[in-house]
Amino acid sequence: MPETMTTKTPDELAALVKAQATVAGFDLVGIAPAVEPTGWSRFLHWLEEGFAGEMEYIPRRQAAYAHPEGVMPTVRSVIMVAINYGTVDQNNSTHSAVEAEASLVPGRVAQYAWGTADYHDYLKARLHTLAAALHATEPTLRTRAVVDTAPLLERDFARLAGLGWFGKNTMLINKRQGSFLLLGALLTDAEITADVVHGTSHCGTCTRCLVACPTEAFPEPGVLDARRCIAYLTIELKGSIPTELRSGMGDWLFGCDVCQDVCPWNWKSPRATDPVVQPQPALQPADAGKILMTEDTELRRQFRGTPLSRPGPAGLKRNAAMVLGNSKNPAAIEALVIGLTHSEAMVRGSCAWALGQIGTEASHTALIQQQAIEDNPEVQAELTAALQ
Ligand code: SF4
Ligand code: SF4
Repeated sequence: MPETMTTKTPDELAALVKAQATVAGFDLVGIAPAVEPTGWSRFLHWLEEGFAGEMEYIPRRQAAYAHPEGVMPTVRSVIMVAINYGTVDQNNSTHSAVEAEASLVPGRVAQYAWGTADYHDYLKARLHTLAAALHATEPTLRTRAVVDTAPLLERDFARLAGLGWFGKNTMLINKRQGSFLLLGALLTDAEITADVVHGTSHCGTCTRCLVACPTEAFPEPGVLDARRCIAYLTIELKGSIPTELRSGMGDWLFGCDVCQDVCPWNWKSPRATDPVVQPQPALQPADAGKILMTEDTELRRQFRGTPLSRPGPAGLKRNAAMVLGNSKNPAAIEALVIGLTHSEAMVRGSCAWALGQIGTEASHTALIQQQAIEDNPEVQAELTAALQ
């Protein structure tokens, strides 16, 4: 393929990219050179430790992560962009007030999923707007938009592009915008003047995120064992939640924001005003009992095109059972008994555990009745454990 000949200098292209990224609706923009990511060896170590859990798509494409050429063979520059999605004032959190009035047993949903659309869709659309603006000036320049789905270490390139540092919670933190950031990348074969890498950390002696993590998912600062992270357990994991992690999940139905909520850099960042990230009231929080009682087909319809579709109805119901069990609220028994009739053993087993946690006479009776008809050995084991 012939090399792209741009009419503008690398400096002029950098200025154009920055102006057009703001027009396209991004809160942050920076440019990194297309090089081997600086965190490559850390990434390999992370994979070797098995910290990726069941996310097999990561090791499967391991080689492609080594260089952005794995995504676009002719790439020379990586334009990194971010949208701030933090809509909660962390100094004056409304979580508890909303929870108290909204539903019987509230289940918390991570902020990134509060909007009405999937962030992949609107980030991609904005990246295409940015690409179109560049193509309008430089018709021979080629681009490829990346949001999550391609093998690119996006956070590494965001740091290289000067957007921030990696906090001890592994998130990219920007001094001005905090860490509630959705990252996207536009790879291009044009040479564009790169920004200065963010080489320093601003965590200092703080360890708030490490201490606050409810499931102890950080084996050391800056390393996440995804297998213990609530975000992984509620979104990526296909099977049952490991028993020893269930109580730590608390009231998290989908994802978890704890290690970001406690980060002082998010206390001073501006609240996101972008219409696409504004929360829908039904998800802050969601009603865990209602999720368990809603037909799978209806749940699919309700969450189509949103992040909550990722675990599927059975995954969401498994999560809802965890929330209900952790609530220890007898009012949840009705929903859990309905959950015991679900076609998937994982849902029935999760409901059995939750009924055991509630531990009233009524929940005990429901467990005994299910024991008499249950034909799945794993669910039987959950029922036995719950009755003990
Ligand atoms: S998202 Fe929650 S569970 Fe995961 S590391 Fe952060 S605090 Fe821990
Ligand atoms: S909570 Fe403290 S240690 Fe953790 S990322 Fe924020 S500043 Fe760094």
